Amino acid sequence: MIRETNWAGNHVYRASTIHRPESVEELREIVSRAPRIHALGSRHCFNDIADSAELVSIDAIEVPVEIDREAMTVTVGASIRYGTLAQTLEREGFALHNMASLPHITVAGAVSTATHGSGDALGNLATAVSGIELVTSSGEMVTAKRGEPDFDGMVVGLGALGVVTRLTLDIEPTYQVRQVIYEDLAWDHVDAHFDEVMSSATSVSLFTDWGESVNSTWVKRRAVSGDEGPHRTDFFGARTATRNQHPVKSLPAEACTEQMGVPGAWADRLPHFRMDAVPASGDEIQAEYMIARDQALPAIWAFREAIQPYRDLVWISEVRTVAADNLWLSTAYGRNTVCLHTSFRHDQAAVDRILPVLEAALAPFEPRPHWGKAFAHAPRYERLADFRELARRLDPRGAFRSDYLERHVWG
Ligand SMILES: Cc1cc2nc3c(=O)[nH]c(=O)nc-3n(C[C@H](O)[C@H](O)[C@H](O)COP(=O)(O)OP(=O)(O)OC[C@H]3O[C@@H](n4cnc5c(N)ncnc54)[C@H](O)[C@@H]3O)c2cc1C
Repeated sequence: MIRETNWAGNHVYRASTIHRPESVEELREIVSRAPRIHALGSRHCFNDIADSAELVSIDAIEVPVEIDREAMTVTVGASIRYGTLAQTLEREGFALHNMASLPHITVAGAVSTATHGSGDALGNLATAVSGIELVTSSGEMVTAKRGEPDFDGMVVGLGALGVVTRLTLDIEPTYQVRQVIYEDLAWDHVDAHFDEVMSSATSVSLFTDWGESVNSTWVKRRAVSGDEGPHRTDFFGARTATRNQHPVKSLPAEACTEQMGVPGAWADRLPHFRMDAVPASGDEIQAEYMIARDQALPAIWAFREAIQPYRDLVWISEVRTVAADNLWLSTAYGRNTVCLHTSFRHDQAAVDRILPVLEAALAPFEPRPHWGKAFAHAPRYERLADFRELARRLDPRGAFRSDYLERHVWG
């Protein structure tokens, strides 16, 4: 046993070894020989999704970042972290459509679990993928492009199909973003104006500990020319913050990206946390449920009521929105989505007790848990049978089948 853990420290990998090949040829050999193996990213998941008898990290395989200015795409090694990619893109005058709250995660690890940011009009990070290359369990290289038959099943792959080696992502010209925080948004105003609040900017996050109001609303707006003046101060009755802050107000704001309406590059504003700092509290277990957007308010109220007895265990919750997509196992598949995320204090036993209660409260709204966070039950996805068939075809000997996948995909 390697006795190593994920980032949060709430999962000890059961694997006996972590391979670190330095070339794709070496990777192909390792994968084709292993009875049971899984790819490992930057370990930011909160469950055993990235665990198996053997693990392989591809961060020692050097792959150049290739920008295609005509196609407006970038092709990267799958283990590059968003923060590193963003620096290169920004230097060359390009941008991604969105980022998660943290830039520390790998591109393959993030898209494999349908990791998302916020924004009514913005799909999750996996929707930027237009091309994928992976090593299957026979050691064969397989590629697929957007529009090809298997592509929509391959992107959010949970590591079940093979080891992704390269990804091609859509890019666009760089842009600036201004981030402003509003404090104490009244729940009545959320109730009365939810759609207006969430569509009021490029990306909106509601942070709450489920008390009397939404503690802070993080509003990220693309700065367009002519929009250089002071930011709006009349945000549905909430107070404009007068200093930078952390989503958990008692924690230092230094870990967070610049706020106060100061324009800055997309990569320095869309994530909440800075690449050179510890994201979030650093001592937590996260869970998140995706609900159809048109059920947002009843779901929020049901969740708010269900979580009241456990508020002592909550660092902070975050409500975000994501546009619908067509990726088979995406948590936003076929429906505009609202995401109810919670960072719990690091008490696994308590979290394990609470999640079934929260899931029961959300059951009428058909919640889809974040694949990479803590949860009790995965729902049946509409395209699950297609995904299984794809997995059988790409991995006939079941080398990528893991305990997690047996429970949530095969079981
Ligand atoms: C502080 C913090 C903040 C977070 N914020 C957000 C957020 O804003 N939005 C959100 O949606 N999520 C968020 N998450 C969750 C996180 O983005 C996801 O769990 C993500 O999947 C982690 O990626 P990773 O690189 O760490 O991958 P890992 O956790 O190492 O692996 C995740 C999955 O990707 C697969 N994988 C990794 N590399 C490859 C590869 N090369 N080929 C095939 N499969 C591969 C693994 O097998 C596994 O199935 C947050 C997590 C933390 C710790």
